[in-house]
Amino acid sequence: MELETIEQFRNLVLKLGLPRTDMVLFGIVCPYCGKNDRIRPLEPPEELSKELGQQEMALYARVWRELHPDNSLAVCRFCRNILQVQTGARRAVPLGEW
Ligand SMILES: [Zn+2]
Repeated sequence: MELETIEQFRNLVLKLGLPRTDMVLFGIVCPYCGKNDRIRPLEPPEELSKELGQQEMALYARVWRELHPDNSLAVCRFCRNILQVQTGARRAVPLGEW
C-alpha cells in the first residue's frame, strides 16, 4: 500500500473521529507507542455507508479491500496511528507492513 494512501486514510479517520465505538482491544500492544489499552477497532466500510461521502467511502473501502483477509483495522487513540490487527493473533502492526 502506498504511503500517500495510508496518510490520506489516517487523515480521514482523524477528521471523522473514527471509530465511533469506545470499545478497546485490550492486550494488543501498539507498535508505535507501546500502549496496550488505547487500541480501538475501526468500523468496516459497510457500517459507515451513511456517514461517509462518496470520495471518503472510496478511499476508506479501498484500504480495507487491500488488507489481508484475516486482518482488520484499528486506531491507537494515544499516538493516533493506524494499525492492522491480525485476527486471532492479538497482534498489531503498522498499516502497510504486511
Ligand atoms: Zn500508539
